[in-house]
Amino acid sequence: VPELPEVETIVRRFRPLVEGRRIAGFRARWKKQLSPGAAAVWRGCVGRRIARLGRRGKFIVFELDPPGWLLVHLRMSGRFEWGANCECEPGHLRATWIFDDSERLLFCDPRKFGRIIYAADLAAATADLGVEPLSRAFTVRKLAELLRQHHRRLKPLLLDQRVIAGLGNIYTDEALFRAGLHPLARSDRLTPPQVAALHAAIRSVLRQAIIYQGTTFDHAYAGGGMQQRLAVYGRRGQPCLRCGTAIQYARIGQRGTHFCPRCQRGGGSQHRPVRRSR
Ligand SMILES: [Zn+2]
Repeated sequence: VPELPEVETIVRRFRPLVEGRRIAGFRARWKKQLSPGAAAVWRGCVGRRIARLGRRGKFIVFELDPPGWLLVHLRMSGRFEWGANCECEPGHLRATWIFDDSERLLFCDPRKFGRIIYAADLAAATADLGVEPLSRAFTVRKLAELLRQHHRRLKPLLLDQRVIAGLGNIYTDEALFRAGLHPLARSDRLTPPQVAALHAAIRSVLRQAIIYQGTTFDHAYAGGGMQQRLAVYGRRGQPCLRCGTAIQYARIGQRGTHFCPRCQRGGGSQHRPVRRSR
């Protein structure tokens, strides 16, 4: 599932193509993906120009002119294609934007979990989203406040889009490894140096992943280079790059989680590595 770096890469790729173009037509084949409804999305975009393409959390955000907003969430298998010919099966094409110069933006989504949302007010539409981890608002102090407010385990807390927007399974596992924190560590029990380490880890892993255009996980998202640089995610049973201990895999909050039991601390006694005592 695309996370912040993959969505950011898609936005950067499509920005020069769509910005400035006027939408002359919109066709959708899977109406259940459209919110608040097919007619609202059609009315919301046809006749408007795309002023800017941006991102909020894992949403791709089209700023329209006259003012309006189109939000696209790719979820499991959604992707954009440019031009008349789509590389995926014709049956997977779900929506088409036709521009006034006849160019086309296609939305393909085999599994149909993606969402296309029209909103008159962006702030209202994204009111549930937490802080952007690469924004200036995301300071060490802000993270400390969020961790203190919520009395939760780190992994599910970091995945919660209402707290921090954009992190998913891959980069949460990577950030926790870089910070040396156990995914089950309690958010309200971190020391100030641990909070600072987590803050730096979240930012560095996201920035690095953007540079490498994200992680290729299956054909829904290709072209990334970050998969070769992941330290724990997808490395179950392989030696930790730092200490050589086998990377562990556990289901935490219904999500597969990868971590080094030796390098990552604070998960509670049952998750500490077994040590021989004299
Ligand atoms: Zn280790």
